[in-house]
Amino acid sequence: SGSFTDDYSIHKTNDDATYCKRAAVQLGYYDDPFINRFVQASSSTNDMPIRRDPEISRGYWARVKAFRTLIDQFLQKAGPSCQILNFGAGFDTLYWRLKEEGAKFRRYVDVDFSSVTAKKIRMIRKPGKPDLVSIIANDSSTELYESGHTDLHGGDYHVVGADLRQARELHEKLVAAEVDFSLPTVIVCECVLIYMAEEQSASLLKYLADSFPTVCFINYEQVNLSDTFGAVMQRNLNTRGINLAGMAACQSLESQKKRFLENGWTHAEDWRMDIVYSQHLPKNEVERIEKIEPLDEKELLTQLLEHYCMVVAAKDSAGLGLDAIKF
Ligand code: SAM
Repeated sequence: SGSFTDDYSIHKTNDDATYCKRAAVQLGYYDDPFINRFVQASSSTNDMPIRRDPEISRGYWARVKAFRTLIDQFLQKAGPSCQILNFGAGFDTLYWRLKEEGAKFRRYVDVDFSSVTAKKIRMIRKPGKPDLVSIIANDSSTELYESGHTDLHGGDYHVVGADLRQARELHEKLVAAEVDFSLPTVIVCECVLIYMAEEQSASLLKYLADSFPTVCFINYEQVNLSDTFGAVMQRNLNTRGINLAGMAACQSLESQKKRFLENGWTHAEDWRMDIVYSQHLPKNEVERIEKIEPLDEKELLTQLLEHYCMVVAAKDSAGLGLDAIKF
């Protein structure tokens, strides 16, 4: 179901990600001065910590930290004329976090269903601190330009509504966001592809490999869903009405990698998140976050992390060394 519709239960998954990230930020797992601007004002809990189990917060910390590790490597290799596309971005604050830290890039584009981008634009424009609009406008002489309430263009920041399963619509929106297909580009995709049927994500990956000569894709999502714990994860999502249309590609690390290599990408490497957590994230930071909340059953965290993975895929015509982006 839902292959051509704007599936309500799927864009609701963004609310969950936003709440979990906010909970982790409030407890001090990591810094994100912007996340509060994207929590629905309707929630009466606005100033109260939202509880999430400690293994969930540790998992979110690892996810955000792992993305930044890889994105920072891309920025370093690609230089200031690069582009960042965040697919299924939801209310992710990456643009503002990068700007705050002085990261240099030519253009940044958030893409999600138009119902989600319309909400994001309202939240961006809502007066409050920190002021999101002034951070966008800072670098640009142009006014913010809004189109159809679902797309916003301003300076180096764009947010556009598009269904990632519809290549033509996506392409038109990327063109409207002034994406330059010849520039080195990273596509960030955090818990998104699993909601699309395998052939739909395959054709998205093929479209990207065909359109960008120098491109890197960082994918994070569920993996190993065919074991017992994976079956429980699936059932939990199913009971919330969420259809994991893309489960087939999430059966194993091998299938995660294959989807890139079979669709025009020349390099793909994968890591299970339990390995990223225990071997590749800074030990002193792991120690710090593990002190925030006690976790009696360590096994719970390991099991959870075994069911998520990161894949870095690349096509590197300009020879920037994008294949060397790794943990
Ligand atoms: N990437 C964000 C994060 O990690 O905080 C949000 C993750 S949320 C689990 C999944 C997001 O993907 C939702 O915002 C949803 O609307 C978006 N999404 C799923 N399928 C999509 C599609 N076919 N086209 C556009 N967006 C999609």
